[in-house]
Amino acid sequence: MKLKISFPEERVKSPILSEVILKTGILVSIVSSRVDSKGGEIIIEVIDKSYETIKEEFETRGAAVTFLDTLICRNKEECIECGACISVCPSKVFGYAQDWSLTMDTQKCIRCGLCVDMCPHQALSIEGTECE
Ligand code: SF4
Ligand code: SF4
Repeated sequence: MKLKISFPEERVKSPILSEVILKTGILVSIVSSRVDSKGGEIIIEVIDKSYETIKEEFETRGAAVTFLDTLICRNKEECIECGACISVCPSKVFGYAQDWSLTMDTQKCIRCGLCVDMCPHQALSIEGTECE
């Protein structure tokens, strides 16, 4: 399960991630990180099933937590396989197969939303139900 942790400006300098790992003993992998002096976000992957424990520990330290359980969806009826999403995706979710059809590895999605904005046919969604 991937989780998005959002830090407000006043908590940026606190070692929140280390504290949570030490307190819970739950190991996490950092998928992406974007933090500056005004706040930021990290996406983590937790293999352990204790998502709620991790969430609680982050929240008591002033961070907001979102479960990323709905990954990117493509509406095949709308997709024209133009490839615009391939170049914009930072996680290499999209690619072309040998027959030039679009491929997707949805488990790599970090829900940044860049491809949703880029798609000229509104074929992509991170909230939708029209998944392939
Ligand atoms: S940008 Fe949209 S239309 Fe183009 S290949 Fe990706 S999903 Fe399909
Ligand atoms: S939401 Fe971001 S990470 Fe997920 S497929 Fe789109 S561009 Fe890639």
